[in-house]
Amino acid sequence: MARTQTDRCPGVLAVHQAADGGLARVRVPGGVLTADQLEVLRIAAQQLGNGRLELTSRGNVQVRGLSADGPRELSERLYDAGLLPSITHERVRNILASPLSGLDLESRYDVLPVAAAVDRALCSRPGLAELPGRFLFALDDGRGDLRGVQADVLVRAVDEREAVLSLGGLGVRVGWGEAAEAMVAASESFLVERTAQGSQAWRVAELDDGASRILDRLGLDRTGADQGETSALVPGVHAQVDGKCALVVTVPLGSLGPEQADALQQVSAGQVRITPWRSVVLPGLSGDPSERLDEVGLVTKADSPWNGVTACAGQPGCAKALADVRADARRVTPKLPRHGRPMHWSGCDRRCGKPAGEFVDVLAIGNGYVIDGERMGLQ
Ligand code: SF4
Repeated sequence: MARTQTDRCPGVLAVHQAADGGLARVRVPGGVLTADQLEVLRIAAQQLGNGRLELTSRGNVQVRGLSADGPRELSERLYDAGLLPSITHERVRNILASPLSGLDLESRYDVLPVAAAVDRALCSRPGLAELPGRFLFALDDGRGDLRGVQADVLVRAVDEREAVLSLGGLGVRVGWGEAAEAMVAASESFLVERTAQGSQAWRVAELDDGASRILDRLGLDRTGADQGETSALVPGVHAQVDGKCALVVTVPLGSLGPEQADALQQVSAGQVRITPWRSVVLPGLSGDPSERLDEVGLVTKADSPWNGVTACAGQPGCAKALADVRADARRVTPKLPRHGRPMHWSGCDRRCGKPAGEFVDVLAIGNGYVIDGERMGLQ
């Protein structure tokens, strides 16, 4: 389906004006932040925004509630912290990587250096500033956790020598030495094919026969499909191959308060990885800081009712919202039946940020909610 709308994906410089002020989205390629960068974001959110950091389904971070001169000050701070390396390409740096990459036995290849190489190559090519802000690259370290994220260009590790590059389910084998270049070349071919079709598509899937035509342009023979389900990381301690451990921590509703961000920074070993599942990974730990994180309302247990719960912005951030869904979700979620499904709270029937696949649908209707289509009073 051809798109004709203007690409309004927010960035740090192209801030979205929401009902509660400016909303800036900070791209974090590979989801990797240093502890110092997290501190910069925490302080910026406190001094320039509403104090909270929102984690997105693409492993990025949002600051909202910015005043009129907030974006300028924010962009200067992010530039100094190395979080805004390109003015022209900031919105196209959408690169997911397996959050436990390089840490445990399931990781067949550490894809984080490849993610960094893709980022550098993207930012170095002027024409790629034209990529839509929704175009998504993903690098799966072989465990299969990112196979279902609906990336436009996905690379999944086979072993230490080879990977499968796939577009829209069509896959080709590539060596690691050429993987970053192949991903970037695929995005360039997307733009060429988009122009050839007279389209303003944002995603490969929106082009007519897009995946096949892009592979043809690259001269690559497809070898088969490579799609599957995405599996969220389970909170708790994961053993690393080097004897240390990584802690997976769920951030309830993906909204990180200042005290929580400070606690993560304090207990980290210098790095915090943002996942696509509203959680973070603290790699390289020598001990288990779960108790400290539990104290500030973060979730380190696999059986917590907060795992797999998401919500749109709702009131007061979105003018369309019929309820303050986040406040209601905080109050009611632990009491609601889930039957093993994720749960998503929406302030209107656009259901922004809903998860892929089956989920418990909690929808505001103005005078209450319907849950999976049934009217429910929330006490
Ligand atoms: S689902 Fe509706 S209320 Fe929620 S953020 Fe989207 S438009 Fe706003």
